[in-house]
Amino acid sequence: MKVEVDEDVCIGSMSCETTCPEVFKVVGGISQVQVEVVPPEAEERCRQAAESCPVEAIRIIEQ
Ligand code: SF4
Repeated sequence: MKVEVDEDVCIGSMSCETTCPEVFKVVGGISQVQVEVVPPEAEERCRQAAESCPVEAIRIIEQ
C-alpha cells in the first residue's frame, strides 16, 4: 500500500500526523509522506488518517 497527499489541498491540520506519525509529517503547514511503502503495521492507522482528513487530501493506493 502506498499513500499520497495532495499538497494543493492539504491545510496542515496535523490530524494525519497525530493518527499515523510514522507515515505523515507536517512540514511548513503541508503533510509530507515519509515512506515509499506504508509498513503493514501502519496500514490501518493510515486508512484512518485518510478517512479523517478534513479536506480529503490523502489518497490511498492499494497494490
Ligand atoms: S489530515 Fe489532511 S489536511 Fe490535515 S495535515 Fe493531514 S493531509 Fe493535511
